[in-house]
Amino acid sequence: VVDVRNKFEGIWRLSKLGVPVDKDPGKDFVGVSEALLEEIAKVLEFPVASLLPDEAFTVVRKSFDARKKEPKFVYTVNINVNKLLSLEPRTFDFISRLEPKIGVVEHMIDDKDSGDLISIVKNCREADQTMGLKEVGPSNLTGGLSTYPITKTPKVAVVGSGPSGLFAALVLAEFGADVTLLERGKPVEKRGRDIGALVVRRMLQRESNFCFGEGGAGTWSDGKLVTRIGKNSSTVVAVLKTLVHFGATQNILVYGKPHLGTDRLVPLLRSFRQYLQELGVTIKFGTRLDDLMIEGSQVVGVRISDSENNLQWNNRKFGYDAVVLAVGHSARDTYEMLLTHNVDLVQKDFAVGFRVEHPQELINSIQYSQLANEVQSGRGKVPVADYKVAEYVHRESEDLALDSERKTRSCYSFCMCPGGQVVLTSTDPSELCINGMSFSRRSSKWANAALVVSVSSKDFDALGYHGPLAGVEFQRTFERKAAILGGGNFVVPVQTVTDFLDEKLSVTSVPSSSYRLGVKATNLHELFPQYLTEALQRAILLFEEELPGFVSENALLHGVETRTSSPVKISRHPDTYESTSLKGLYPIGEGAGYAGGIVSAAVDGVYAGFALAKELGLYKGSI
Ligand code: FAD
Repeated sequence: VVDVRNKFEGIWRLSKLGVPVDKDPGKDFVGVSEALLEEIAKVLEFPVASLLPDEAFTVVRKSFDARKKEPKFVYTVNINVNKLLSLEPRTFDFISRLEPKIGVVEHMIDDKDSGDLISIVKNCREADQTMGLKEVGPSNLTGGLSTYPITKTPKVAVVGSGPSGLFAALVLAEFGADVTLLERGKPVEKRGRDIGALVVRRMLQRESNFCFGEGGAGTWSDGKLVTRIGKNSSTVVAVLKTLVHFGATQNILVYGKPHLGTDRLVPLLRSFRQYLQELGVTIKFGTRLDDLMIEGSQVVGVRISDSENNLQWNNRKFGYDAVVLAVGHSARDTYEMLLTHNVDLVQKDFAVGFRVEHPQELINSIQYSQLANEVQSGRGKVPVADYKVAEYVHRESEDLALDSERKTRSCYSFCMCPGGQVVLTSTDPSELCINGMSFSRRSSKWANAALVVSVSSKDFDALGYHGPLAGVEFQRTFERKAAILGGGNFVVPVQTVTDFLDEKLSVTSVPSSSYRLGVKATNLHELFPQYLTEALQRAILLFEEELPGFVSENALLHGVETRTSSPVKISRHPDTYESTSLKGLYPIGEGAGYAGGIVSAAVDGVYAGFALAKELGLYKGSI
């Protein structure tokens, strides 16, 4: 029901406005085009589109839909009703007739701009001061740090500068904590050189690579900013706005599938760093957390190794009131250290498989048919095509790890990088694992994606791995096998999709690959247990039904994709984010099992930052 009193105020939202490709200015334009005004005029039933003032409309979402016969850009638009009526009073009759239609017109949406995290925390602090926080004294919350006197500035160590650590550090520092950010890898400028040496000269630095270093695993990535949390959630919007504050393009706030690309991530991280330093955050690169200092059941500090003295690791101790652990899913040494302190760690399901690479042109033509020409290596009107496939695969042969209750496994594509390249994400030279990255234009001639099958504790048991780190051992087994199958030197074992389905060695020349360190034709059936291989084979045949052309002798499977998400969960209290077994320890992000991607890791960092600020008595409001 429309509230008539408010009908001519505030913001109305129109969604599902489709503009045909030939009329739209193209994927890079997020303003209000004439063609879009025509669509708006149709919904308003306003006869002259050219009379509609474009200032009254804001594009809040733009995505590309190639599924229909006539591919379209699909828009969601906000109407500032007051502005519209003042600029073009003749629209009054049309607006007054407009009724909300499910999924097309929403009325009275809140026009409050949530802002980025910097302004959000400032507002929270101001609200606290209005409430008289200063006079309240020590926080009266219960829990590990609840008696912390707010007259002393609390000292917090944030370990790891991936998205979760960076956002936690930002929130805590904005609330006034004395934050030290410890990162085992190097700042992006130096990390870039190490990655160059890896890709060109095969030199893998253990502490500075595709997983470790400033920005974490997401820096040399595709920079996709999609998340299953929902892009309209206020925390996701605040994270995206914070990225814009640090230099990301405004259009990530509008695109249905926003992405940055490595070239944009690197300068963004530099300005993020600079801002943290201006806030007073001490950032220590080349500094690895080796151990926790514990008194009773409380963390009181960290033992670190750092590279200050000619890259010699030494063992130094520093006291902190709380330690935020944001170490990502490849910090296997850190997991082992936590176990020595009996920190609650449990196994977590994840997925393993291959990275499949197709010529990008093939994916464009599968997804867009005639329109494929419009792609032009990322310079054209429509976005470089992507895909997402998922199927449940029924068990056929003996599958040791499935019991009578569980008859299916899920197989799916993951982290698809259109116009990207396959990269080495190993952190140890005896292991081989891969992932994908891209630059902002997504202009390479390849499209890659993980093609994986879900695994759980039964699979780890089947290989004889038990205990909290069984999943890590499971990963390692296949990473070592892949290194051996490739023949060493980070050469990746590959097989065409058609030969994998036929279980045939790709003897003739394999199609070219974007992977820079070389590929070797092998039989990838030698990698995983048969039941996992069969599940992947069956899934590929189902994917072919969805995307005809997916099965191709030009499609190359690369082994092995193992680090799809964390194999471990570090248990924590849902409200305080504090470890269930160790006071003062705050496990966050992907490595702790609470995120799977750049945005969800950042969001976890934000919530943890607020929760810890509250525990430290720096914040009184709700989280
Ligand atoms: P991480 O980003 O893993 O950061 C952890 C940090 O902790 C690292 O910098 C590490 O050096 C540091 N660290 C570890 N141990 C210690 C220690 N003991 N002492 C000090 N420091 C330590 N996600 C997306 O959403 N979109 C994508 O397009 C995308 N592409 C990807 C491409 C690649 C090649 C990779 C590897 C990942 C990609 N991901 C992508 C996943 C995404 O990067 C991660 O989900 C995300 O970075 C997790 O954030 P995090 O903060 O939890 O951990």
